[in-house]
Amino acid sequence: MPGVVDYLKWRRALERSRAEGLPDPATPSLVPGSINLDLTTACNYRCDHCIDWDILNDRRKHDDAELRSAMQLMAKGGLRSVILIGGGEPTLYPGFVSFVEFLKSLDLMVAVVSNGSRGDRLLEIAPFLRRGDWVRLSLDSGSNATFTAMHKPARQSLTLDEICSWIPKIRAANPEIDLGYSFIITWKGGARQDTKVIENIHEIVSATQRARDAQFSYISFKPFLERTEDGAEVMDPSKTEEDLRKVRARIVAEVDRARKLERPGFRVMESTNLRMLEEDRWRNLTAQPRTCHMQALRQVVTPIGTFNCPAYRGVGYAQLGEKDAYKDPETARTTAERTKALLDGFDASHNCREVTCLYHATNWWMEGLIHSDADLDAIEAAEDRRDFFL
Ligand code: SF4
Repeated sequence: MPGVVDYLKWRRALERSRAEGLPDPATPSLVPGSINLDLTTACNYRCDHCIDWDILNDRRKHDDAELRSAMQLMAKGGLRSVILIGGGEPTLYPGFVSFVEFLKSLDLMVAVVSNGSRGDRLLEIAPFLRRGDWVRLSLDSGSNATFTAMHKPARQSLTLDEICSWIPKIRAANPEIDLGYSFIITWKGGARQDTKVIENIHEIVSATQRARDAQFSYISFKPFLERTEDGAEVMDPSKTEEDLRKVRARIVAEVDRARKLERPGFRVMESTNLRMLEEDRWRNLTAQPRTCHMQALRQVVTPIGTFNCPAYRGVGYAQLGEKDAYKDPETARTTAERTKALLDGFDASHNCREVTCLYHATNWWMEGLIHSDADLDAIEAAEDRRDFFL
């Protein structure tokens, strides 16, 4: 909260100075409170529906020592949480286990989004994680056949059964962590460039049953996203081969059936954009203010550079710096100035006009506060849910 209030005060002072023709006030350090960290771009799957296809298996890599020093600097500057995700499969990073241990030694909250192929490595990190940390596996199917057809793992013998068999072991090693089964809903007509995706709506219920049986904490459903030509990640259900209303009705019916499988200790969750799709309201989230304030609060650090938003991984005009954007105080200062330049120059009302942005309400809330006379020191904190992931 102090970081957010300081940010709002700075933006307000900046706008006032500019209105009065005065020089800009000094730029604060602008270390984000939360990052997505892609440890590697390497991946051992070939998913048709992969949103990061164009940046996979790039030659560029992190320098482990440099990355650790960046994490230390950021943790001192206000970073609270790290989601190890990608742009690549995080467990394939050679020092994955020791890196997770290192992040926890900095008192950061840690989450891992994995394809599940290296359950052994997820089991090894379990003892380092604490309540509030989580691991989520991207599985998107309920049967072994659909799993293989959608993900094309390099080891062809890998099955959903094998992946799920690690969950009871991880849970036994650390009952505190949340273990999620992620399911991206795909429909006929969706495509990554010319590659058509396989539909999986019919496996929503079987995947939920499987997740429950395997002792996951929850299953989460979200819609398939595509990348536009200018790089943004968007939901475009209008491309469906079937009537969109029928597709929506099938999704709603299957998710309703899945909900009946909830029980204490097992939840069925839907992403915000899926709920908006089901209610035919997703376009409400595509009207952003000109300035995206989330760029200052949450960033994406990858081996190919540092970016302003997960929706713009690998996109040149959304780049804040190189992979080492926070490696030392001098580089971090340059990154802060670059963040300021993007806050000015990245026009979210235009660039994100097709993105169903999860931060739509947050951005408008911050925009409203900056342009109001509200006493920023009087903002009351909400209940602390010990959740610092953005
Ligand atoms: S407006 Fe939303 S989609 Fe666009 S950069 Fe900001 S957070 Fe990302």
